Amino acid sequence: ELHERNGRPDTVVRIGDAVLGGGHASLIAGPCAVESRDRLLEIAHAAHRAGATVLRGGAFKPRTSPHSFQGLGAEGLLLLEEAREATGLAILTEVLDPRDVELVGRSADAFQIGARSMANAALLREVGLAGKPVLLKRGLAATVREFCLAAEYVLDAGNDQVILCERGVRGFDRVTRNLLDLGAVAHLKGATHLPVIVDPSHAAGRADLVPALARAGLAAGADGLIIEAHPRPDEARSDAPQAVSLDDLAQIAADARAILALD
Ligand code: PEP
Ligand code: MN
Repeated sequence: ELHERNGRPDTVVRIGDAVLGGGHASLIAGPCAVESRDRLLEIAHAAHRAGATVLRGGAFKPRTSPHSFQGLGAEGLLLLEEAREATGLAILTEVLDPRDVELVGRSADAFQIGARSMANAALLREVGLAGKPVLLKRGLAATVREFCLAAEYVLDAGNDQVILCERGVRGFDRVTRNLLDLGAVAHLKGATHLPVIVDPSHAAGRADLVPALARAGLAAGADGLIIEAHPRPDEARSDAPQAVSLDDLAQIAADARAILALD
């Protein structure tokens, strides 16, 4: 299978100036959702100062409830382009629908496939054909094997620029939102040639635990982190409890650099 290590050297994935894999690690940071121009630019400048090289931000949000804020859509994509212009950060944003791959690809430097979409074969094939890096999140309760086979769809479409993202799986205890599977991170680094990153934000579901899970992810061998940050976390329109402040983001980045060199 295409994702398997089989003695292959690490696949190195580049998103703008960010490099992941082959001993390179990067910090991806930003809000859960793009909320407004001012907020996005404030976060983007802070992420850049902290040492992030990729700005994350959802324009199309896969909310658990259809009554929750669904993102700004196409307008959010234009705000992300503005933020790239202002900071030089590359743009990572989620695509939910195969019909939106072309639209999202016009603005984004890389596609995010969310946990709720991990097993959407049509979407995986479509981003596989789009010629841009794909950050693939592990499904809500997906086995490592199912996660690898989701990546296989993208690889099989001819795109080897795939980053695996461990974001926690559903556990039995609600003290954290999800269980961060660090064993899977260490396993995937050996069993596949793809870069692996950790999302401590969706794993913890609580801002106070994000720094510890970020350090743990890197210690387990991750090639980077994706962190949700917000200037006023309690005002975030989605995932507020897990958003770290911009000061905390800078501290997480400093801690990361004490563990490994960030690109
Ligand atoms: C997100 O990154 O904001 C998100 C929706 O994450 P996940 O797909 O991991 O739940
Ligand atoms: Mn989120």
